[in-house]
Amino acid sequence: MSNGCCCCREKKVSLGPEDSSTLCPVCRKPGVKVKNITVKHLVADEFIDQVGNADYYLCMNEGCEVVYYNLKLAVKFDKKQIRVPVWFKKDADPKYVCYCSRVTEEEVIAAVVKNGASTVEDIVNLTGAMKNARCQVNNPLGKCCHPAIRAAIEKGLAVNNQSSV
Ligand SMILES: [Zn+2]
Repeated sequence: MSNGCCCCREKKVSLGPEDSSTLCPVCRKPGVKVKNITVKHLVADEFIDQVGNADYYLCMNEGCEVVYYNLKLAVKFDKKQIRVPVWFKKDADPKYVCYCSRVTEEEVIAAVVKNGASTVEDIVNLTGAMKNARCQVNNPLGKCCHPAIRAAIEKGLAVNNQSSV
């Protein structure tokens, strides 16, 4: 997979929790490690001073208000303190799957249902997703949006299957 996608050229991406001993201070669910540079770019201006130079964890629980936290620093940032809606959190609007090109889940599903897209490559061609990808500073996970796009394609294909039955 190429398409100028910044992260796919690097190591395999994983959305799973990397360290189960680092639980969200509010919901106690495991978080996913996120680089400091990502947090600095996505926290709203007035809170940047609190970020410091450490890496953070991202709470993956859709129902939890907390986005980034660092237990050692005792710092956390909730949804309202982040510049962009975090797509997997409840009520995220719009629900971006590709933050670099601002492509939403809805647009990907529409490309599958209306235009017959079925691969990430189709989506890239139809929506412009993953062009000029800078996922490390644009995506709340700091990782490639590729898995999120694939998940949205699956949702679109499920719609297609339902309507053909
Ligand atoms: Zn949480």
